Amino acid sequence: MLNVIFTLDYEIHGNGDGCPYELMVEPTSRMMDLFERYGAKLTIMADVAEILKFKEYKELFGRDDYHYDAIAAQLQDAIRRVHDVQLHLHASYFNAQHQNGRWVQDWSEYNFAGLPLARMTELVRVGKAYLENLLQPVSPPYRCVAFRAANWSVNPARNVVRALVHNGILIETSVFKYGRREGIVSFDYSQAPSALARWLVGEDDICRPDPDGRLLEIPIYCERRWLGAFLTANRINRALQTRAHRIATGEQGSGGTKPIAKNGWQKLIGQLGMLTTLHPWKADFNQCTGRQLTGALRRASRELQSRDQLECFVLIGHSKLFTQANVKSLEPFLRFVADHPEDYQFAVFGGAGLRNSAITVGHVRG
Ligand SMILES: [Zn+2]
Repeated sequence: MLNVIFTLDYEIHGNGDGCPYELMVEPTSRMMDLFERYGAKLTIMADVAEILKFKEYKELFGRDDYHYDAIAAQLQDAIRRVHDVQLHLHASYFNAQHQNGRWVQDWSEYNFAGLPLARMTELVRVGKAYLENLLQPVSPPYRCVAFRAANWSVNPARNVVRALVHNGILIETSVFKYGRREGIVSFDYSQAPSALARWLVGEDDICRPDPDGRLLEIPIYCERRWLGAFLTANRINRALQTRAHRIATGEQGSGGTKPIAKNGWQKLIGQLGMLTTLHPWKADFNQCTGRQLTGALRRASRELQSRDQLECFVLIGHSKLFTQANVKSLEPFLRFVADHPEDYQFAVFGGAGLRNSAITVGHVRG
């Protein structure tokens, strides 16, 4: 059996551009309506760092230009409708300044895994407390138990694991097998034990299983695929959005990765390399087609030893990318899962006292 968990990174553009109502509230509202037609559950990974800035702005200026009230109401509504809300953090927002009509982030805190332990522990505490204060009045058993870092930045893991465990977070869900980055944010998840099966992590390395660990890693499902698998209309839309709202981190270059000067031959060899090598393909429900996702889910289920084995098939998405075209591409996948209850079930990480919670299938010690 596979628990199908849709995680939605709930945020504006990474560079601070964009209207929260258009990029978060409106698409998420449509998404919940769509999911409910199939009995599916949405797990909103709310970037509390930016949400707190929108709240601060409203309190400071007496104007809700960043739609804080609508965001808070939507998160409560999600819990009321038995979806889930968990913690995502873009730490660079905590010290952000509002200048000339936009948010200027603190790029020195852009790389979550690079923060000092005390700072990281405090930010996770603030984020978890915010969600629990907001959502427990709606559902008293609600707990914030799962976490995803901005830019999947949980490597090196030592401070991350300690900060999360200290705050009672049970599940980390940033890792995707085969993932690698080099730049302001650097990580290498090629040694992750699985693209599918969860593991308890040791303190020093998020990719090293430790039976005595106190934090459960539930990875985002990922495969290695040829470039052709990435050519979908929704993915091209994403690439255009990223280009239009590029991150400029001042002295540190753009986008967090230093480009290396290349001559013509090197460029050509690099481009040919892109065509002939395999790339990490995440189960992204905005950018992959429903057909692709169905294929991936079937392949994942063949990895199970028996029908009794229960694992989580974690998908990732972004509210800002949920277009009308995406509704069409996603529906066949929702239908497929709903039509095969003997093999798949819609689930959440837990924390709201829900059935089908990933925690109940984990072996986390308190
Ligand atoms: Zn994010």
